[in-house]
Amino acid sequence: MKVIVIGAGLGGLTLAQGLRRAGIDVVVYERDGVRGRAQGVSLHVDDRGVSALRACLPSEHAAMAEATMGGPRERTLMLSEVDGALTIAGAQPSDGVAGRPRPGRQVHRPLLRAVLLTGLEDVVRTGAEFTRFERRADGTVQVWLADGGTDTADVLVGADGIGSAVRRQYLPHARVVDTGRRMLMGATALRAIADTELPELIGHSPAGVRVHGTMMVLGVLRFTESPVAARQRWLPALPLSAVAPVEDYAMWALPITREQLGAAGSPAAMWRQAQEVIVDLPSVLRLVVAEAWPDITVALRIGTIPPIPAWPAGPVTVIGDAIHLAPGFGGNLAMQDAHRLCEALVETDRGRLGLIDAIDAYEETMRRISFSAPAAAKAGT
Ligand SMILES: Cc1cc2nc3c(=O)[nH]c(=O)nc-3n(C[C@H](O)[C@H](O)[C@H](O)COP(=O)(O)OP(=O)(O)OC[C@H]3O[C@@H](n4cnc5c(N)ncnc54)[C@H](O)[C@@H]3O)c2cc1C
Repeated sequence: MKVIVIGAGLGGLTLAQGLRRAGIDVVVYERDGVRGRAQGVSLHVDDRGVSALRACLPSEHAAMAEATMGGPRERTLMLSEVDGALTIAGAQPSDGVAGRPRPGRQVHRPLLRAVLLTGLEDVVRTGAEFTRFERRADGTVQVWLADGGTDTADVLVGADGIGSAVRRQYLPHARVVDTGRRMLMGATALRAIADTELPELIGHSPAGVRVHGTMMVLGVLRFTESPVAARQRWLPALPLSAVAPVEDYAMWALPITREQLGAAGSPAAMWRQAQEVIVDLPSVLRLVVAEAWPDITVALRIGTIPPIPAWPAGPVTVIGDAIHLAPGFGGNLAMQDAHRLCEALVETDRGRLGLIDAIDAYEETMRRISFSAPAAAKAGT
């Protein structure tokens, strides 16, 4: 069996690792260069993401990913300012109930992606934009790339994110709706705010502050093991450039509207915009943003994909943001999809289940889990 995956994001790479590990022929076509585009600096990864990583990745890759996660995040704090000092005004359990996040750990997104890419260098083709596919009479699928190249496989997986070209052709009635909300996200070296009370106050927990309608979400990522030491111990094949510049940091996120974002296009302009948005927030939080690394500030669009009715299974399928959007835990869902689809395709490869039945089983579970997830979940930090 041969599988073509479109998109080298969290979902596509987790799937490719799992298929590779099972000895199934896989190729990944990725539009961007090897570094990918800015998607925010960190992720809250919960049990769904961790299970997928453990199941799909070689054990030393999974160990590397887990060694460099932050500490356990079991509650979400609400902060307020009393007499000029930040205090904890309340806390909610992170228990996955009633739209609350599940317990998890903070992960440095570029490092996780680098771990996922390690060992797939001969499988991932970067700078290769998928444009369309055609189902052939023999049951296989042929794909076309923007440079005119083509390839053929038994299965085509759209793991190509929110703007998925695979979904647009395969399920054109599934539409992305722009909620008009944006998330300005950035990060600040922990050493730059070490003299403040903030890092000790929040520990590993995500924390939120709301003042006069302005909301800021924060999280401190203290690497459990130094990324350089963890690479040496677990995954020396990981490029040194993925770990050497990495240090503990605070990540911050500001939910704003499209109008508030205005014309800010460059990271530096977004960073300046962030400083304007938080003028009413406590001084320690203004310091966090003022001391941030301007060039990694991003503004992410928050969209939804309203669920669509079930479709008949075929040799083309979709995972992750290509079919469902959940800003606070979509990465976990993408990795979970990859895990489940990988298991289904392995069943087929071993002759235990027909291909279309396997894809049908994956899609049915994916729809049941993801189409019922709260669409406007809080963005993780
Ligand atoms: C503000 C915000 C905060 C978030 N926080 C969290 C969090 O804390 N935890 C969490 O789990 N999730 C979080 N998410 C969601 C998470 O970022 C996404 O759900 C996740 O990245 C989806 O992974 P994916 O593999 O499906 O898609 P992506 O990671 O988007 O990957 C898609 C890939 O496909 C490539 N591609 C696209 N089109 C083509 C084409 N035509 N040809 C070839 N390649 C193509 C892209 O370049 C990209 O590399 C957050 C999202 C937002 C917006």
